Amino acid sequence: MKKAEISFDSLPSSAVSETTLKICLKCAFDVITKQLKLTTRTAYSELKKHVPEESDFSGAATSRPHFLAEQQTDHCPFCNGTKRWFADFHARRIDSHPSFEKERKKLWTALKKAPDRFTVWSPERTKMQIFSEWLERLNRSIDFEGDHWLLDVAVSNIKRSLPSSDWEIALAGGVRRVQLSRDVEEGWRYEAGWLYVSPGIYGDALMVQHLISRSHLHGGRTFEGRLTLPELMRRLRRIGYFEARGIDAHEPLEAFEQAIVKIVDSGPSAVYYAVDRKDYLDKLKSVYEKKRDK
Ligand SMILES: [Zn+2]
Repeated sequence: MKKAEISFDSLPSSAVSETTLKICLKCAFDVITKQLKLTTRTAYSELKKHVPEESDFSGAATSRPHFLAEQQTDHCPFCNGTKRWFADFHARRIDSHPSFEKERKKLWTALKKAPDRFTVWSPERTKMQIFSEWLERLNRSIDFEGDHWLLDVAVSNIKRSLPSSDWEIALAGGVRRVQLSRDVEEGWRYEAGWLYVSPGIYGDALMVQHLISRSHLHGGRTFEGRLTLPELMRRLRRIGYFEARGIDAHEPLEAFEQAIVKIVDSGPSAVYYAVDRKDYLDKLKSVYEKKRDK
C-alpha cells in the first residue's frame, strides 16, 4: 500500500520557514573512512543515523560536510567533489501559535510514525527570542529600496500575530494599502486591494516598521513617515493604540517597552523543527552501493 504523503499544508504558511541544507557525501564518507580508518560499511551505518543540528540549518555554525543551498555551486566547497555527491536535508521550522497548536500536534504525530525519514525537535525559546528571530528573518528577506517594504512588514506582522491558513486566499488580490479604520469588526477587513485594520493592528505595524528600520540609514520609518521615538508614541496615542492594547505609560520609552511586550505576547510561543531526510537517505544508499561494488 502506498502511504499518503505527509503535508504541512494544515499549518499557516506564514508560520513555516524552510531551509535546505546540502551535504557532500564524498566528504561525509572520507571523514569516517580516511580519518577514522573505518570501513565503508561502518561509515554507511553511521551516516544513516546522521541528522544536522539547528546551528547547521541557521548558518550559525555550518561546517564540513554541510553547506547551505543558497551558495549556488556545482562543486563541494571543501573537497571540490561534483554535484553527484550532494544530498539535501530539508528543514521546516514552525513558529507555533496557540491558534493552530492542534493542527501542529496532529502533524507531529504523523511525522513520528516515520522516524527514519523525519527527525523532529523543539529547541527552548522564550517568546522574546522567537520574536527577535522572526524580526531577523524579516530583515534579511526585505528590500529597503522604495516604500514597498512598509507594506510587506505590516502584512507579515499581521500574519504573525493572527496566523491563519486563510490569509493567502483573503489577500490573493494583493495589498496596495493598509488603512487605519475604527469600525472594523474582527480587527481587519479586505476590499479591492485595501486592508482596513483596527487601531491595535495599525499601531503594531507602525511599531514593527520603526523597529526594523531603526538599524538602517534614515531609520525610524513608518506608514506615517519618519518618526523619532517620542513622535511615534504621540502618533500611537492619537490613533487610540494605547487604549486598544491596554498600555498605560506616561513616558515614551516606557510606553514603547510595554508595546513591545504586548506585540511579543501576541505572537508564537514555541519553535518546532522537522527535518526531512528522504533525499539524503536515498542518495546515501546509492553512493554506498557504488562504493561497495567498486
Ligand atoms: Zn566534499
